[in-house]
Amino acid sequence: MQNKSLNAKATITKNGAVLLGNYVACDSSDNSKPLRVVTHAHADHMMGLRQSLRTCEKVLMTPATKDLIDVLRGPLFLMGGFVETLDYGKTMHYKDESITFFKADHILGACQVLVEDAQGTRIVFTGDFRLDKTPVLNADILVMEATYGSPHCRRSFDVNVKDLLVSLVRKGLKKGTVYVFGYHGKLQEVMQILHKADIRVPFIVPERVFHVSKICEKHGMRLGRLTLSREKEAKELLEHNMPCIAFYHMNTKNKVGLGGFRIYVSGWEFNMACREIEENEYIIALSDHSDFKGLMEYVRRSKPKLVITDNFRVGYANVLAREIRRKFGIPATALPRK
Ligand SMILES: [Zn+2]
Repeated sequence: MQNKSLNAKATITKNGAVLLGNYVACDSSDNSKPLRVVTHAHADHMMGLRQSLRTCEKVLMTPATKDLIDVLRGPLFLMGGFVETLDYGKTMHYKDESITFFKADHILGACQVLVEDAQGTRIVFTGDFRLDKTPVLNADILVMEATYGSPHCRRSFDVNVKDLLVSLVRKGLKKGTVYVFGYHGKLQEVMQILHKADIRVPFIVPERVFHVSKICEKHGMRLGRLTLSREKEAKELLEHNMPCIAFYHMNTKNKVGLGGFRIYVSGWEFNMACREIEENEYIIALSDHSDFKGLMEYVRRSKPKLVITDNFRVGYANVLAREIRRKFGIPATALPRK
């Protein structure tokens, strides 16, 4: 019977809204809930945000996520509603429930969400996370991402991916400009790795990557000196294939730096930490999500009574739910059902 009552306390809707307790909808809009949470500034977690700003009493996010959305959507966007920022570890009370954010190691500002209801049930949504630096929360109900939820998605590289990235970039710089393609957040992680490794060539970035990077710096990341790609200095470096590193969003990979030395940063690599796909074209397996082992380890340490895996976003929610049932004997369901 206990599971039945737990079952009613969290779900994922067909629009991808993660509903926790009586009042909270995370990462997509839902008309039945007064509070909307944005766990982080990736597009698949900001769905229906305009709608939520219009209809929700409050839209909650961390201060860094708010800064990122101001850059990605423009400073006026969030003014369309009542946004309240909540720091990690701070609790907000709403009627008979409380909401607390905890760090998720994913992109700047990413959070996990804990809702505690009137009966003391702990309902946790991990959002997207990489296990290494993510605190594991004890949960009665655990709602979790399932991006790499299949046993095939195991990274067992015996090399340090960051070192490999640094040496690949050094190799590329001997030939001239190195182009790095990745998503927001990941590009800045690469900058941080290269800066830390003392690679001191100019980092060239288009406008939006520049602004996202400045927010990352404001919140404590060290990225090095950035030059806007529209500036004369940058244009000359790129035009003459001089040693510098150009960082571009993955969406522009078919338009920019064609024929140059190119590196794609992707999580979807499991067999090799670095793979040459063409001459001077490489994929580096730098992920901001846990692999299968990391997801299972989170469940083991969280000790939930019920698990819901996110079957709305890209991933292996059904497989992960099955593996959790099989390995831990915990009821687990992939939602929404497809
Ligand atoms: Zn994400």
